[in-house]
Order: sequence, then C-alpha cells, then structure tokens
Amino acid sequence: MEISQFPQINPPHRLLMGPGPVNADPRVLRAMSYQLLGQYDPAMTHYMNEVMALYRGVFRSQNRWTMLIDGTSRAGIEAILLSAIRPGDKVLVPVFGRFGHLLCEIARRCRADVHTIEVPWGEVFTPDQIEDAIKRVRPRLLLTVQGDTSTTMLQPLAALGDICRRYDVLFYTDATASLGGNTLETDAWQLDAVSAGMQKCLGGPSGTSPVTLSERIVDVIRHRRRVEEGIRTEAHRDGSDEMIYSNYFDLGMIMDYWGPERLNHHTEATSALFSARECARLILQEGLDNGITRHKLHGDALLHGIQAMGLETFGDLKHKMNNVLGVVIPQGINGEQVRKLMLEDFAIEIGTSFGPLHGKIWRIGTMGYNARKDCVMTTLSALESVLNYLKFPTTQGAAMQAAWDHYCAMDRH
Ligand SMILES: *Cc1c(COP(=O)(O)O)cnc(C)c1O
Repeated sequence: MEISQFPQINPPHRLLMGPGPVNADPRVLRAMSYQLLGQYDPAMTHYMNEVMALYRGVFRSQNRWTMLIDGTSRAGIEAILLSAIRPGDKVLVPVFGRFGHLLCEIARRCRADVHTIEVPWGEVFTPDQIEDAIKRVRPRLLLTVQGDTSTTMLQPLAALGDICRRYDVLFYTDATASLGGNTLETDAWQLDAVSAGMQKCLGGPSGTSPVTLSERIVDVIRHRRRVEEGIRTEAHRDGSDEMIYSNYFDLGMIMDYWGPERLNHHTEATSALFSARECARLILQEGLDNGITRHKLHGDALLHGIQAMGLETFGDLKHKMNNVLGVVIPQGINGEQVRKLMLEDFAIEIGTSFGPLHGKIWRIGTMGYNARKDCVMTTLSALESVLNYLKFPTTQGAAMQAAWDHYCAMDRH
C-alpha cells in the first residue's frame, strides 16, 4: 500500500438539495472542531445538561428525559421501540410510505405483534381512520411517522394524542425529517415519545438522534428495568417478557448515564454532541416558529417554480411537508440522467425515490441551512437548464420569475 495514493481528504463542493442529508450550517461544523473532553469532566456533563434543556425547546416539551442517542436517526427509533415494546405487545403502524415500513420492520425485531393500516403513497390518514384501527386492534403502542420523506407527506398528529389517551395507547412519532421545519408540539399533542435526526431540518451532520420521553413511557421502561434487577412486578407475574434485548439501546441505562447518577454506559459522542448543541441553539435563536415559517416560504417558492416549469408534483399538496417536494419525472426524460447532469455540471444533488415511486419522481429538499432563497433559485435555474438541454421544453426564466413573484408577494405581507 502506497500512502501517497490516499491524499488528504478534500470532498468536492456540493449543494445538497435532496431529502437529506443537506449541507450543515458552517457554525455547526465549527462547533464540531473543538478539542474533546473526558466524559465525566464537569464541563462535559454541563454541556449534556444544556443539550437536554435546548432540545426541550426544540421538541416543545417539559419532558425531563430529553437527550441524544448516539447513532443516526434510526438509533433513536430503535432505542425507543426496543425499550418500550415488550415481546408480544400489539402495536399499530399507520403506513403511508417507506418509513412506516421501517417502523414495522423494527417492531417485528422487537417481537411485537404488528398491525398496519395503509393508504396509497401520496396520502395521509384521518384521525377517524386511526381511531377505528385502534378500536379494532387495541394496541399498546401507536407508532407513527410525522413526515415521511419517501412520499413527502406530513401526517397530522394533533388529534391523535387524545385518542391514544382514551384507549390507553402509548403514542410515538418519528419526526426525523419534519422536526424544525414543520410544527411539532410534543406536550400539547400528548406524544409519549419522539425521535429525530440531525441531517434534515435541524441542519447538522447525521450521527446523533435527539429523543424525548414522557413520564408515562419512562414508567414503562423503568418497570422493565426493575425486573432485570430482580424485583418482581405485576408484569412479571402475568408472564410478559421484561428483558430489553439490547444493551446499547437500553433507554433505562441511557437515562442513568444522562441523569444525575452518571452511570457509565457508552462514551458520549463528544463532537456530535457539540454539533447537536449548536443546531438547537441556532434554531432557538432564530425562533422555532420563525424557522418553520422559513421552511414553508422556501418550500412554497420551490413549488411555484417547479409548477411554472410545467412539471407535475407528487401527492396531496394539502399535506405536503414544508421541506421536501416530489416532482414527477416527465415522459421521455431519464430521471437519472437529469440527476447526473445536475451533480456533474452544477454540483447540485437532488433525490431519487424508493419502492413504488422508484424512477417516477425526484425529491427536492429545502431544509435546514439550505432553506434559503439562493439555494431555491440556483436549483430551479439548474433544473430548468438541464431539462431544456434534454429537450423538455420550458419557458426559459418562468421558474425563477414564479419563485421571485412568490417571495415578493410574501414580502408584502
Ligand atoms: C431520513 C429519515 C430517516 C433517516 O434515518 P437515518 O438513520 O438518519 O438515516 C428516518 N426516518 C425518516 C422519517 C426520515 O425521513
């Protein structure tokens, strides 16, 4: 092996306009470059406490147990599902895209009895559809996705908390792709657990997953732990399985590490914690609601531009996430060729899609640090040029004009 074949890393410049990851805010990258601390250094545990407080603000929650799980967004999902689901528990998953299927897959690994309801991709559920399924299945947990980037749809959650309380169901949502760019009210909506990730609207690098847990779900998790420690409980007598089949994702142990006990578990990912702290600080400095308005502004500007190009959009626009748009690949256009030209000639990445939508739509994101006017304008102009080059006729300049018109109209408000 010749080390000269491995020059110092120097990644190419890219504008990431897909469904995530997106470019990280430079202030977040800077926060990651500080020297490491020992995991019990008072400075480090102070930062951990600050992160808990900051993310309470981001999640709109008073939950004491609001912390980071080290690993990408699915680490947060797995930690919650593994810790809260007892083998044999019934769970209900309303599936409206790929990430609903992911929840089913993980829940099955937790030996849950998984029940699903489905709507076609591009739609969401009404609260009645979910309540009917809850009445029929009588699950112990409702596992939802708030924003499913595979379809760009945002499932309304505000009415579901009441329903869950009425039927004594624990209420979880995967807000990885939606948090920070769309309204999420953990406490007001009576969510028992929420998990997120950094690389979408939060504007950081993937690698940590913020989670928040209600007292109700913490009780369930703690109840399991006591049995492991040899104390017999109600649940043990009824024969249910108490063991949490993961050490790394055992939320009881993770709480003991983040809590005043500071019991050694893993070594907190220090640089990732610095970046997550800076993401939350920037979001709260801007104001969570201002940030959501910003995501809507630029998402709508992109939408107007795409429509002015004569392109069709995917899904029910009433329920679209603010931060990602599905664009139907026009007849006679090779979607992958467009993505290749966008990347090679403009250094812009847009997203492909999965499953039933594979080869049918592109997904364009405007989120986090890239929910900005210049990103929208650059992407529209590049896409228009590429499409014209490939002989898909658009009126040159129409997309930019439509986006400008939208910005001007919103300015006058
Ligand atoms: C992007 C996304 C994820 C990503 O999970 P990672 O483990 O961070 O790759 C999970 N859930 C949803 C809804 C997403 O949109």
